[in-house]
Amino acid sequence: MNQEAVLPFVTQNLKRYWVPLLCGFLASCCYGIIDGTLIWMVKPLMDKGFIAQDQRFISKIPIYLLAIFFLRSLVTYSAQYFLAKVSAEMASRLKINFFQRLLKYPAHVYDQKTSSEFICKINDHSLLMANSTTELINLLAREALTIIALLTVMFMASPIFSAIYLLSVPLVIAILSYATRRSLVMQRKVHRSSEEIEHHLQEVIEGHFVVKSFLGYNIEQEKFAGSVDKNLNARLSEAHIIARGSAFVQFIGGMVIAVILFLAQSPFSKLSGGEFACLMTAILALLRPLKQLSSVSDLFQKVLASAESLLSLNKIPQERLQGRTHPLSQMTPASVQFINVNFSYGGEKESVSLRDINFSLKPGQTVALVGPSGGGKSTLASLIPRFYQAEGKILLNGRNIQEMSLEDLRQHIALVSQQITLFNDSVAANIAYGSYDIDWMQLKKAAQLAFAEDFINDLPQGFLTKIGPGGYRLSGGERQRLALARSFYKRASLIILDEATSALDAESEDQIQRALISLMAQSSTLVIAHRLSTIMHAHNILVLDKGMIVEHGTHAELLKAQGLYAQLYQQSAGESSLTLSETP
Ligand code: ADP
Repeated sequence: MNQEAVLPFVTQNLKRYWVPLLCGFLASCCYGIIDGTLIWMVKPLMDKGFIAQDQRFISKIPIYLLAIFFLRSLVTYSAQYFLAKVSAEMASRLKINFFQRLLKYPAHVYDQKTSSEFICKINDHSLLMANSTTELINLLAREALTIIALLTVMFMASPIFSAIYLLSVPLVIAILSYATRRSLVMQRKVHRSSEEIEHHLQEVIEGHFVVKSFLGYNIEQEKFAGSVDKNLNARLSEAHIIARGSAFVQFIGGMVIAVILFLAQSPFSKLSGGEFACLMTAILALLRPLKQLSSVSDLFQKVLASAESLLSLNKIPQERLQGRTHPLSQMTPASVQFINVNFSYGGEKESVSLRDINFSLKPGQTVALVGPSGGGKSTLASLIPRFYQAEGKILLNGRNIQEMSLEDLRQHIALVSQQITLFNDSVAANIAYGSYDIDWMQLKKAAQLAFAEDFINDLPQGFLTKIGPGGYRLSGGERQRLALARSFYKRASLIILDEATSALDAESEDQIQRALISLMAQSSTLVIAHRLSTIMHAHNILVLDKGMIVEHGTHAELLKAQGLYAQLYQQSAGESSLTLSETP
């Protein structure tokens, strides 16, 4: 990405904070001017004070110094506070904005990227961009003004020697711009390897049971050390480039000082003691802002690299939220119809995941999806809430879901997947997830219907108990019942259910079964079925194989047909629980 695209993004973000930014900028400028003034005072201090011994002047010096240092403290405070304010507010706003975008990315984006990539960009790069931008402004204002002030002082003391000093400037600029280009390359490497480290950390933390049970310690340790090494090398190369640039700049400055010192001692030099002292102090004082100039280029690269990384998030298209039709009004059991639906994940024809899907689900009925693993059951279910865009027509209550607003569509659907997602919040907030005001009557009823009320009441603070990250304080059965309670609470007109196959204790299993039956009774249900009881219960069973509906009918009809369903049924007949949809 080029600078032309990145810089407007940075300036747009800065514009919002123009008041504190201007205050901080002006304060930083004043800082440079004050430092110049302090050095200019060296001349009268030498000539009038030390050489001419002007007592009136000498007595006023402490007052001048006090006034100048008072002003200097004031501008230091203002520069630091206002620029820190801009930085903190900008970082917070960037994080909030990008989080908002993240929530609305389509499902396929989550399939392609790792969560740590998003975390690194939204959290770290927002902060980096905000900090580097304000630090850059601070440095530019302070150091540029200091350099201008010091050069003015030098020219006032001796135009010829100042001109000699300035001869070194083009060389300094050339060195700095070379360092800038090289360090940008390294910055990108540092960012990429930092993302890799975060990704690896996340994988190991989330998969710690697998790492432990498969004794993956050494492999993980080596892989992690490899990523850290890559990051270290990139950082060291970057540090080397920056340090080398700044060392060259300083050395050139030193050489020029030596030349000036040599010439100033010659008989042609007509400098007074004060002028000479003022010139030398200004030249020495210039070393610091010159050194800072190399960090200006470093900071600039940080701004560019972090802004570039954030802009890549802006480029990801969001879900199409708006539809054209009026919202569905009632929360009554919904009807669903698939008409010639085709879908492939990558969009390429050769990897078609669903082909010619046609079926209908009448209000209040249950349609069960069964079939071998990879047959396309989850894919089919995920098309109804429009997680992915399919070809063909999917109608909800007779309306094409493509023409409905996403909010309206998803309002009518409750999704219970095998992978239960619980948030690090209270039981009540988890059941009433998505609503701002909790309806406690409805909440308790939902918990009752999901057979969750008893165990919730046994928790230390009942419905207000915090369940920890991912609900780790609850058992598998309890977590499932909470997820079901969430669907009861939503009172959706269509339930999409991916039944869990995980082994549960007999009591949980029984309670979950009863909860499922009452959930199915109150709305229309599309269920990826694993239990025989659910399958027997279904009004229609669709057998999916290789993305196609190969058979459909009731349990009895399908058994009679002696096809794939009957085959799967016989295979699993000996097993304790029927797993028609997950053959190993
Ligand atoms: P089932 O639920 O019947 O086990 P899925 O719907 O999960 O089957 O998968 C159907 C096919 O789509 C499989 O070939 C699977 O590899 C592929 N698939 C599933 N999810 C994705 C995804 N997010 N991205 C790409 N391909 C996918």
